[in-house]
Amino acid sequence: MTKYLVVGAGLFGATFAYEAAKRGHEVKVIEKRNHIAGNIYTKEVNGIQVHQYGAHIFHTSNKKIWDYVNQFADFNRYTNSPVANYNGEIYNLPFNMNTFNKLWGVVTPAEAQAKIEEQRSILGDKRPENLEEQAISLIGTDIYEKLIKGYTEKQWGHKATDLPAFIIRRLPVRFTYDNNYFNDDFQGIPVGGYTQIVEKMLAHENISVELNTDFFANKEAYLNDYDKVVFTGMIDQFFDYKLGELEYRSLRFETEVLDEDNYQGNAVVNYTDAETPFTRIIEHKHFEFGKGEKGKTVITREYPANWQRGDEPYYPVNNKENNTLYTSYKELADREAKNVIFGGRLGQYRYYNMDQVIMAALVTVEKEFEG
Ligand code: FAD
Ligand code: UDP
Repeated sequence: MTKYLVVGAGLFGATFAYEAAKRGHEVKVIEKRNHIAGNIYTKEVNGIQVHQYGAHIFHTSNKKIWDYVNQFADFNRYTNSPVANYNGEIYNLPFNMNTFNKLWGVVTPAEAQAKIEEQRSILGDKRPENLEEQAISLIGTDIYEKLIKGYTEKQWGHKATDLPAFIIRRLPVRFTYDNNYFNDDFQGIPVGGYTQIVEKMLAHENISVELNTDFFANKEAYLNDYDKVVFTGMIDQFFDYKLGELEYRSLRFETEVLDEDNYQGNAVVNYTDAETPFTRIIEHKHFEFGKGEKGKTVITREYPANWQRGDEPYYPVNNKENNTLYTSYKELADREAKNVIFGGRLGQYRYYNMDQVIMAALVTVEKEFEG
């Protein structure tokens, strides 16, 4: 039996803790926030499950992960179909025939493709090397200017020409009239919210959880007292930033309860112009088809923010420079922290979705217990 300390009660930490506990190991989980579940935390307000850290839609094409997460919650049939508001003009997302029709009046896929072909010709034969070039190459200049440039630059705090192309490849481009934001086979929102998933994972008798507890308040003692540490906080902070700071993007959420039934008619509305200071407004009740108290709705505006030490690091900024620095931290970890496993969005410095985080945790579990 091994004594594990898991730092962080998010999805990575909880999945690891659950799997280790099931195998008979003893696990202590410490979490610096006053609640479990990390960024997938949801809380009920006026009968509505509020996604406290931004819209979370579970989607995956991995049947094993879908079955895995369904052990802990029932999922509804929610399909994400956000709309973009560009200075009052509304466009469907992801980029599909509805978007192309509204923008250019084209009706057939061939007409849309011809329009995009014409617009992307400004790139010539150049292979796209950054987000701007990648976007223009995928959907042309009009969509880039109206729906991508402003949103992306405020979201990331960098010029689109300084951002990696892969970020925009997350979004499908479709020549069908299909507003489903994701291409995945499975998608939904857990009925009753996400927190229950982590709650059930951590309910095992071999697991104890301590909230409001920061690893760095007692780092050396923790490292001495446990056989192994699973660390899901920031890898650069673990090493006291000694190789330099990794870059993160932070967010500020402003949540309001409104005395009306239906504020925006959709769960997610993106504001894609550069001037509006927030990137999106989510109206939580639409994730569960309008459930909740009559005459009330809860909305959250999401403002991107620069990250400074002490702020919440929501997104790793995976450009070349940061990835190189991360690799140096990873090498340092392999050399100097042999009894520490670094996991999750912050520990592995990767723009993971929830399904990928569960997968990464299960791979770690396999290495740890079966490898
Ligand atoms: P986290 O959830 O960040 O958990 C890490 C935990 O460690 C935190 O609770 C933190 O407080 C704690 N911690 C950190 N340092 C310390 C310390 N020193 N001591 C103690 N505790 C510490 N994914 C999707 O699949 N679909 C979506 O729609 C989606 N939308 C998203 C929207 C936003 C705005 C964001 C930010 C993310 C979104 N994600 C989405 C990604 C999803 O949130 C992550 O994949 C998942 O939460 C990562 O889990 P984790 O355990 O790695 O990290
Ligand atoms: N994006 C955009 N306009 C939109 C939505 C997304 O330009 O209306 C870009 C933006 O750069 C964003 C990326 O596409 O960071 C990925 O979008 P996604 O919805 O996956 O972002 P996340 O949910 O991770 O914030």
